[in-house]
Amino acid sequence: MNQKNYKFWFATGSQDLYGDECLAHVADHAKTIVSELNKSGRLPFEVVWKPTLIDNATIRKTFEEANNDPEVAGVITWMHTFSPAKSWILGLSEYRKPLLHLHTQFNREIPYDTIDMDFMNENQSAHGDREYGHIVTRMGIERKVIMGYWADEAVQDRIASWMRTAIGIMESSHIRVVRVADNMRNVAVTEGDKVEAQIKFGWEIDAYPINEITKYVDAVSKGDIDALTQEYYDTYDILLEGRDEKEFREHVAVQAAIEIGFEKFLKEKDYQAIVTHFGDLGSLKQLPGLAIQRLMEKGYGFGAEGDWKTAAMVRLMKVMTGGMKDAKGTSFMEDYTYNLVPGEEGILQAHMLEVCPTISDGPIGIKVCPLSMGDREDPARLVFTSKTGPAIATSLIDLGDRFRLIINEVDCKKTKKPMPALPVATAFWTPRPNLATGAESWILAGGAHHTAFSYDLSAEQMGDWAAAMGIEAVYIDADTTIRTLKNELRWNEVAFRR
Ligand code: MN
Repeated sequence: MNQKNYKFWFATGSQDLYGDECLAHVADHAKTIVSELNKSGRLPFEVVWKPTLIDNATIRKTFEEANNDPEVAGVITWMHTFSPAKSWILGLSEYRKPLLHLHTQFNREIPYDTIDMDFMNENQSAHGDREYGHIVTRMGIERKVIMGYWADEAVQDRIASWMRTAIGIMESSHIRVVRVADNMRNVAVTEGDKVEAQIKFGWEIDAYPINEITKYVDAVSKGDIDALTQEYYDTYDILLEGRDEKEFREHVAVQAAIEIGFEKFLKEKDYQAIVTHFGDLGSLKQLPGLAIQRLMEKGYGFGAEGDWKTAAMVRLMKVMTGGMKDAKGTSFMEDYTYNLVPGEEGILQAHMLEVCPTISDGPIGIKVCPLSMGDREDPARLVFTSKTGPAIATSLIDLGDRFRLIINEVDCKKTKKPMPALPVATAFWTPRPNLATGAESWILAGGAHHTAFSYDLSAEQMGDWAAAMGIEAVYIDADTTIRTLKNELRWNEVAFRR
């Protein structure tokens, strides 16, 4: 995933009004918190203690150093005592990375029997964090605020979750999308302003003629193709379904050549996401199916029919979930068809071929079947069903004057019965709060039929990422009603007006 060895700095605010003994306690307490956070095993990245910040010059210097250290992905701030917030203005105004305000306190309980004014002066986060929070709000700086006791697992998990958002913010500008096909003719929602996307998200989106990449496919050696084809045969169930064994293997080998050739192209030219289009395949013998599924599994972003926005979002969400223990998967996805039986409502999710195997549940098979679209030979694809449980589906749309990220919490389920005649990987989910309100909200908000989908990220994380990018986020979840959603969309028209 090419991620750096990111770290987060822990910066404690105080002042020199309370004497050296107090400052020594402040430093000790902060060191204890940092050490316990690291020992908890719940954070995906290391926290690094920084000397207590008590004046303008050191605060400014610390934030400058954080800006300039490529391994620092964010600063966690906490006011142990009161820290006059004007001291933070210069440092904060120059700071450019993710900011977390951890509103916590070293002691959990008020020490009823011994508490005196010295204790109160030393342990006044309730006081100092409000002064600090005020200046961050007044300066209009986007930041995360997490309140709670630092040793609580729930608080640590929220810090962990924010760290992944911070990685998304840091890594967004390293996403480069290659377009080897333009947007599908006449399709609206997959279009968008690529210049604005680079301004807002830092994405580089470049076009190449399709035959630039097919040259790489044609150049793959027979030995390499045979080896990867054998790997497929060793890894997946071969579902011949009456096809000739030799002919089947030849079809699978076409996808092996595409996987190797595409990956070489992407690596050589430093792209982390790709779009294709069934109508623009150049000399490719098949629409990339199995090949794209494998590339997504390796961490590449993908969007079909030229959908570079979704390709970049899939890559972003794979970066945010990189290295996650027990990850359930992240994929490109498409809303296809409904089940409208009362009590069993949901949306069957699939694509022509390109669903990421990270979301699979149980065995993965290979099938070779005709594709009704395009004019190439029957493509090989991986087929499977997907995991159950909560997940999010996101859609980044261009409204003409701005981007909007729509985030829907969904509940993934098994379909009532298997679908033996359907030769594609699938998922099935019910959007929250229910199918009717969820789908009505999605359509009112302008969401696409393509989504970037993940079991491993929360709506809160994606909304925080959107906020950091300065774009609108619309949540569709258990609390959504059509009346509130329509008002929210109406108000956002004003709030996000340029
Ligand atoms: Mn599509």
